[in-house]
Amino acid sequence: MRQYQKLAIVALGIFALSATPALAKPKWAIAIHGGAGVIERKDLTPEVEAAYRAAMARAVATGTAVLERGGSSMDAVEAVIREFEDDPLFNAGRGAVFTAEGQNSLDSSIMDGATLNAGAVAGVTRTRHPISLARAVMEKSKHVMLVGPGADAFSVSAGLEQAEPAWFFTERRWAQLVKELTAQGLPVPPRPRGAPAPHAFIAIPDDRKFGTVGVVALDSSGNVAAGTSTGGTTAKRWGRVGDSPIIGAGTYAANQSCAVSGTGTGEYFIRLTVAREICALVQYQGMSLQQAADEVIQTRLTALGGDGGIVALAPDGQIAWSYNTSGMYRARAAQGQAPVISIYKDEP
Ligand code: ASP
Repeated sequence: MRQYQKLAIVALGIFALSATPALAKPKWAIAIHGGAGVIERKDLTPEVEAAYRAAMARAVATGTAVLERGGSSMDAVEAVIREFEDDPLFNAGRGAVFTAEGQNSLDSSIMDGATLNAGAVAGVTRTRHPISLARAVMEKSKHVMLVGPGADAFSVSAGLEQAEPAWFFTERRWAQLVKELTAQGLPVPPRPRGAPAPHAFIAIPDDRKFGTVGVVALDSSGNVAAGTSTGGTTAKRWGRVGDSPIIGAGTYAANQSCAVSGTGTGEYFIRLTVAREICALVQYQGMSLQQAADEVIQTRLTALGGDGGIVALAPDGQIAWSYNTSGMYRARAAQGQAPVISIYKDEP
């Protein structure tokens, strides 16, 4: 072998070695959102900001623990969302926004990218963890989506933990409802039975009332999953349902392409089938995950007049997020990568 050939082989070897770490696919990955909206530095007190960052850090730790011990992406998604559903900071489970009638009416969905199995519920009022109810619909019924009193009844028969309506009550969300109904000239309903007496609360400026939670995860078997949970929009009426429980709109997962969870003005996310559209661009147009996410959120959602964002990941370990609001509560982590926890636009 000639000298230059040997040199070329050595050089190739060095290139391959140095390139390997950058290309290495992480065994697991997770990305999380806690809602997008008008979130600016000047609006959050240091205490409130710290509370959100701590909640996101806990969520990352919970998801990481499941994935690091070899747990499934479905288990990671469900575990993280269950915690958010108990955290009054977020518009999901306890802390959900109220309907015009003064109820908490909860929507959630989950999808398994390995099998394309999915479960969803809308308008449930007594299940402590709607994400677990969505999963029960997937695993214990032959249906994909249940709504209203039927979904509540299925929840009981599936043995899920039930909660009194007052469990979901928070003063902050009630004040938001009163403000919104007053602005719309609609009557303010009585406080829910069992709700605590009116008390002081820390107001968080969230004009757009977002705070939906969502998680996408990749597990060490190479399977992706996505889940989303929300109370919807403040003062919603007439049984309004947004994108969060709609497979393909607010939630989608397929090992062939990607997993996505969204948050924002649900009506627009439904019309654009945001989650599925991102995965379709990855699958059929060969776009990178970030390109596909930006195409749908920055270009198409913005052009239609919708607000919000998504988190996404692909089976090869790509993670992306994209939002067209001033902020989004968000976090990501992957095997061998330091977690990132961000709120504002000028953060990574
Ligand atoms: N997308 C949710 C809905 O329209 C709301 C949100 O994400 O804040 O119900």
